[in-house]
Amino acid sequence: MREEVRLLVKLQALDTWIEEAERLKVSLPQQIQKETRALEKAKEHLGGLQGELRALELERRSKEREINEIGEKVGEKKAKLFQAKSNEEYAAITKEIEMLKEKISQLEDEVILLLDRIEEVKMMEQGAREEVKEKERRLQAAQAEAERQLQETEKNLQERRKEREEISHRLARRTYQLYEKVRKNRGNAVVQAQNYTCQGCHMEIPPQTFLEVRKGETLIQCPFCNRILYYWEEN
Ligand SMILES: [Zn+2]
Repeated sequence: MREEVRLLVKLQALDTWIEEAERLKVSLPQQIQKETRALEKAKEHLGGLQGELRALELERRSKEREINEIGEKVGEKKAKLFQAKSNEEYAAITKEIEMLKEKISQLEDEVILLLDRIEEVKMMEQGAREEVKEKERRLQAAQAEAERQLQETEKNLQERRKEREEISHRLARRTYQLYEKVRKNRGNAVVQAQNYTCQGCHMEIPPQTFLEVRKGETLIQCPFCNRILYYWEEN
């Protein structure tokens, strides 16, 4: 392969690497954002459960207070029973006591249901708490890894950009301009010709053109996509 083609192949490899590194620099912070959002969501879920738990506890306390108050009333009514002056009055007070006891029993049932729900929400809250911890760990790990990768990529980028600069200076000005023009139009400028086929556009190259590429004496472009072709044999 002629030196010029060799340099172009090298240049293309460097540019491909640089493009991938630039993409990585964009995608790493996006990954962090994703983990951050996952953590926020887990915290929101936990906050919701804690709010529900507080509301349930308030409701339970309020019902228990009510049970106590009604219990006191029952005591008062019972005291009045002894002072009843007639059978009618006695019957009326007894009926009131029965109704109050019924109310207490109903409230007690409600408290039992609340206690069940409180237990349930407490378990869910425990799970949500662990989920938040797990998401925090994941975010921290992702941040550390991203930082490491960014540093490494930045260091390599500097080296490869320098290398690219050197190669571009070694190429004839016209060749470099051709390379840049094709790369701008096609995304990549230098591709292999393999089995009479351009590996850029996958069109079949005329046999004469393929032979010239194989000789590697002049720069040959694909007649279909204009990419610069090179031939490279394994071994
Ligand atoms: Zn082509």
